[in-house]
Amino acid sequence: MTEIRGNSGTRPDAGADETVEAIIIGNGFSGIAMAIRLRAEGLDDFVILDRAEDIGGTWRDNTYPGCACDVPSHLYSYSFAPNPGWSRAFSGWAEIGAYLRHVFEEHGLRPHLRPGHGVATLDWEADTGTWLVCCHNGRRLRARFVINGSGALSQPVIPDLPGLADFAGVHFHSAEWRHDVTLDGKRIAVIGTGASAIQFVPQIVSDAARLSLFQRTPPWIMPKPDRAYRSWQRRACRRIPGWQKLHRWGLYWAYELRVLGFVVHPWIMRVAERVARRHMRRQLRYRPDLWAALTPDYTMGCKRILMANDYYPSLALPQVELVTAGIERITPNGIRTRDGIEHDADVIIWGTGFAATDYMKPMRVRGVDGRDLHHTFQVEGRGSYLGIHMHGFPNLFLLTGPNTGLGHSSMVYMIESAVGHIGRMLRRARREPRTVVEVRAEAQARWDARLQERLKRTVWMSGCQSWYLSANGRNDTLWPGFTFGYRSAVRRPDWQALELRSAAAAPEVA
Ligand code: NAP
Repeated sequence: MTEIRGNSGTRPDAGADETVEAIIIGNGFSGIAMAIRLRAEGLDDFVILDRAEDIGGTWRDNTYPGCACDVPSHLYSYSFAPNPGWSRAFSGWAEIGAYLRHVFEEHGLRPHLRPGHGVATLDWEADTGTWLVCCHNGRRLRARFVINGSGALSQPVIPDLPGLADFAGVHFHSAEWRHDVTLDGKRIAVIGTGASAIQFVPQIVSDAARLSLFQRTPPWIMPKPDRAYRSWQRRACRRIPGWQKLHRWGLYWAYELRVLGFVVHPWIMRVAERVARRHMRRQLRYRPDLWAALTPDYTMGCKRILMANDYYPSLALPQVELVTAGIERITPNGIRTRDGIEHDADVIIWGTGFAATDYMKPMRVRGVDGRDLHHTFQVEGRGSYLGIHMHGFPNLFLLTGPNTGLGHSSMVYMIESAVGHIGRMLRRARREPRTVVEVRAEAQARWDARLQERLKRTVWMSGCQSWYLSANGRNDTLWPGFTFGYRSAVRRPDWQALELRSAAAAPEVA
């Protein structure tokens, strides 16, 4: 049996190259916030594993033209690391990435980072009360605690369409943008009209000889109230005490109120639908022929609400073709739709989103008695407790976990809430060495049932197909309420729901 000692120092043991007290997976918003919190809790013996060399998570990976956040920067940033220098209301990926790198370096996290450490497997070893974590580069690490901050939108999805292997041109996903591929004068096929596509289509359309946009379902698109901050506004944030805080506070409540349309009654969305319809018609004043195809037939909010000022005008350009017939197959020269038409293309760009409900995939996670996390979650549909704990997976904690996603406000707020809970819980757990924390099966089932009941009445369950829903029809992604409701739930969790026991006394999984 391997003895895990104390709280500091990096020690190899028989089965691992490195043994630490805690492992954080991912160095995006979640991982960085967690690392800072661990240090604040006096837990210094941790490493941050990331598959990439650089830091920033989603804001490192997504570099497509026009990539920007649709939550205002002063809200989409850490409360403990305000940035008075945001250049605009909604920042682009480069500025958000620079912000994250700044916070990372400022807190001296570099020595904890293990870049190029994509995690392949995690196995719970009950006798030692530790996780054995194996990386694709062959390194093996052992830790008492593992915190997953790998993100819910980090696994790009390319649909399994027939014929793709024979395509003679280049194809890539928006989250793996090929900056080495020139689009000038090319015939481009874009598949998907989600949050990513509506940002990059206007940026690449002028380069294209032809752009065929394959739309399966039209999104609801609102005007984006984006603007550059003036220098006096940035100065005010820097110099006037409380100014930036007040601005953030105003943004928080303005966004928070939007939740009413999602969870109280979908008819509240009708007002916003009118605004979106007017936005589309005004921007496509001279193309009424496109209106019908661009008008969604589902309640706004059922899929993520998008914001753009340049998307509709780009569809009116002569080189753009909006294709609404379903895709039949990919051919060597392009894409054939079900109406028999072949759309020639030199480049296919997949704006087809991410595997949002496959938490921790493609990692293989085995908990107590070899229980597989994906089977437990996807097939058995057992949910989680607070979006952080899963029964059968002791000392493993999730960030941006099940039912903590948002359709209306900043994920950074949710991440900070969960990080706070994990920090407080670890403080308790670390009073004794070898403590194992696991949510009780009944408590998890109660929490999950309550959430699913609340979700039934929301707009997300009003009948559309979206990535919010798992294959089994459950909504495993979204938090059905105010964000302060989640914060209060994690601040005052039911401590009885969590079992803190010694590693040696691990019981059977229910
Ligand atoms: P997405 O919202 O999931 O959109 C995927 C698009 O691809 C949809 O239009 C979907 O059509 C289409 N699609 C999927 N499979 C298809 C198939 N087999 N054939 C034809 N069309 C297909 O993906 P995304 O645009 O990458 O955005 C994902 C999420 O990332 C967002 O919802 C958001 O949370 C996040 N994001 C955020 C920002 C931001 O500003 N904060 C920016 C970009 C992305 P259907 O609608 O018919 O399924």
